[in-house]
Amino acid sequence: MPAEPVTPFRLRTTDLLPSTADLVVVGAGVVGCATAFRAARAGFRTVVLDARPRPATLTTPAATGAYRLQFDNAQEVALVREGIELYEDFAALAGLPGHDLGLRPQGYLFCARDEEMAARQRELVERQHGFGLEDVELIDGDEARRRFPFVSDDVISARFRARDGFIDQVRLAWGYAFAASAGPGVERPAESSEATFALGQRVTGLRTVGGRIVAVETHDGAVAAPLVVLATGPFLGRTAALAGVDVPIAPTRRQKVVVADAPEVPADAPMTIDEATGAHWRPALRGAFVLLTEPGTPATDPTWSVPTSADFAFRLLDPASPDSVAAVAPFWADAWERGINWLIVAGQYEYTPDHRPFVGPTPVDGLWLNGGWSGHGVMGSGGGSRLLLDAITGRATGPSWGIAADGPGGNPFRLDRAMEAGRHDVL
Ligand SMILES: Cc1cc2nc3c(=O)[nH]c(=O)nc-3n(C[C@H](O)[C@H](O)[C@H](O)COP(=O)(O)OP(=O)(O)OC[C@H]3O[C@@H](n4cnc5c(N)ncnc54)[C@H](O)[C@@H]3O)c2cc1C
Repeated sequence: MPAEPVTPFRLRTTDLLPSTADLVVVGAGVVGCATAFRAARAGFRTVVLDARPRPATLTTPAATGAYRLQFDNAQEVALVREGIELYEDFAALAGLPGHDLGLRPQGYLFCARDEEMAARQRELVERQHGFGLEDVELIDGDEARRRFPFVSDDVISARFRARDGFIDQVRLAWGYAFAASAGPGVERPAESSEATFALGQRVTGLRTVGGRIVAVETHDGAVAAPLVVLATGPFLGRTAALAGVDVPIAPTRRQKVVVADAPEVPADAPMTIDEATGAHWRPALRGAFVLLTEPGTPATDPTWSVPTSADFAFRLLDPASPDSVAAVAPFWADAWERGINWLIVAGQYEYTPDHRPFVGPTPVDGLWLNGGWSGHGVMGSGGGSRLLLDAITGRATGPSWGIAADGPGGNPFRLDRAMEAGRHDVL
């Protein structure tokens, strides 16, 4: 018996560059596709341009596909919360009956192995409760082992939120794209418009007249438009420079070990993080995705092909390594002893100076940004793109958490905000 298809939809694309649009989105990763979905829903005749021949083929597929509300500030909690609410009911809200995002709300478990880290957990969870994130639990080591028997005896405390989880981020990106392009079978509100995807179109110029954007140029010609959103992931700084806009993005390699087959990994485990090292893993395929924050990684130019380093897998999987995932989940040592097969993939985190995204206007009229997600673009795409379209239209269509407005107390994700230097976040 063939498996049920995960979606009955097909993307509508064009080989001919459209000559005009109400709004052009540059970039068809998960963020650009989300932007196109919101723009079409807001009634804009939208054109999406991407240099690559298929959507979601640069940074987006490299992601771990994980989402969480366990942030250290209320604004990112609100931004991501809105996206998760969309993903939890995506087929209905995006008008895509039968479209499966592979959502797995299995939780995030942050584990502490010493008193200092346990104290930091207590302080953070108290703050999270303070800004309304009341379903984050602080549990002791025994309770962590009762719920998750794989947890090591060394763990003395953990913070856990059951509704955090995992998503297939490529299906999410394509879901946004299907809903935006409104092909056969897509249900959409009468007042919405459609997006046309022109792929294999690298944007080489942004034409301005008198400080206003007027057109987007590719090797095939130009699309005239009064509104342009740049959603080019690690290339955001380079693309914005085409219009003379300086956007500080530091593309930084981030690797992921894919262990495709490891029966030791409990399929229902949460994302499990060692707070001390930042090493983390989550069940995926018949094994796991295993990752590590490498804070010293230097920023580079944006690139279409990110090299990997074999050492990375040894750092995470060899039980003798100080960063080994076996410290929190000893079954990884057994897997190592019997022999594990792995491969490494890599993408670039698109870091901003304060590790928060740029969602808002630029000094060029009509030119907008949706990027700099600093490693959170999958989980942030739903809320961020709604926020952006509200800012463009001047309408508040989302939850009123006060970030669509400009000015003091307004959008904290504007390019011209005051930025505190890099906060440390283990993921
Ligand atoms: C290893 C790793 C793990 C991650 N894990 C998570 C996670 O668990 N959860 C999470 O939320 N996020 C995660 N992220 C971050 C997430 O993957 C990114 O934030 C997100 O994919 C960014 O999406 P995007 O659409 O902005 O960028 P991309 O997916 O990079 O898309 C940008 C698009 O712009 C196009 N483009 C660039 N320049 C041009 C041009 N001149 N003309 C036309 N097109 C152009 C590119 O072709 C590309 O298709 C992870 C990232 C990595 C690397």
